Amino acid sequence: MNIKILAAESLGVRGLCCAVELKGRRVVIDPGVALGWSRRGRLPHPFQVAIGAGIREAILRALRTATDVVISHFDGDHTPLLHANPYQLGLEEARGSLSRCRLWAKGPGRSSPTQQQRRKDLEEALGRRLVAAEGTREGPLAFSAPVRHGQPGADERTVMMTRIEEDGLTFVHASDMQLLDPAAVETILQWQPAIVLVSGPPLYRHGSSSLEALKQRAGDNARRLSRGVDTLIVDHHLLRSEEGAAWLDRTRQETGKRVVSAAGFIDREPLLLESWRDKLYSWLPVPEAWHQRYAAGAADLAWYRSEGWKVLTKNGMVTPCGWYRVCPIKDHTDRGRLESYWVDNYCLVSNRSCVRYQMEERGAYHADNMLPDGTTREGLSRTIA
Ligand code: SF4
Repeated sequence: MNIKILAAESLGVRGLCCAVELKGRRVVIDPGVALGWSRRGRLPHPFQVAIGAGIREAILRALRTATDVVISHFDGDHTPLLHANPYQLGLEEARGSLSRCRLWAKGPGRSSPTQQQRRKDLEEALGRRLVAAEGTREGPLAFSAPVRHGQPGADERTVMMTRIEEDGLTFVHASDMQLLDPAAVETILQWQPAIVLVSGPPLYRHGSSSLEALKQRAGDNARRLSRGVDTLIVDHHLLRSEEGAAWLDRTRQETGKRVVSAAGFIDREPLLLESWRDKLYSWLPVPEAWHQRYAAGAADLAWYRSEGWKVLTKNGMVTPCGWYRVCPIKDHTDRGRLESYWVDNYCLVSNRSCVRYQMEERGAYHADNMLPDGTTREGLSRTIA
């Protein structure tokens, strides 16, 4: 089983999309992305928009080869949307891929009117009815009964969790339960997973009166869950603030277990762009009409992308891979032969899961057209200066 997390707050966007490769199946869970429309009165910074665009493309690439797609619920950062904003994933872009694979979607019960409408939009786009997947199982896949979206009583909406098992290894994806409902934690533990990916508590939404209680409740659940698994990945709502990152560090120390963000899971530096939004605006000011121009397809992201990396590096927020200056992946990207996703998600954040990096470190030969994930791309050849 190969688990690749494609979208999460520690990777620079809102979402919890992952692709799970099995022997005969490729499962994509929650193919959606968002940037947070407004934080402290500010729209997403263009650097966030650039990183989000790369991740949106990566999700679409994963969908093209998917055999199964799971939608845990119909929030805008978890599913393609008929009425996507300029930073989300549009249904039309994903429709062809979705129509070719098995779909496992949460049913319409205990959902907001907007979520129910998005489910109907998907059914209409695909020309078929979606069966409610809660409580079902098929082959390596199993889906939970509905669990609360957040803490009991606070929100009556529900989400669906996914269990995937192959060759004795079990992975669980549990989005938006926020580590606040002990019943959801109990269900996960009964599934006996080795690796669990969950959304953490939304600390950014709470003022001082409720914050400590929220941290305590989520901490209790995280400690209990971490004791029963090998790796607990906590991301999503939690990492929309630096306070969330501090909570994760404390929880890791308290448990003594492997408790990491999505970035930590693959041993790369986190890119907490939503929490850094104010800093990005102060380091790289944005003209007033930029977002309208972007929505009209008239704004260029390339300048903000390259300047964004420079200011983040200069201010010590990220450190590029030591091989970056001499790596053919940089050359391919600088010359427009390769999409920037690879340098954005590997080279510029020192991603130690890079297969090229691992081979460089042990002096093993690897071709110039091998990508950081170990696959090769036909037609890529290095320019000899
Ligand atoms: S492709 Fe891998 S080895 Fe090359 S710079 Fe990027 S992270 Fe480093």
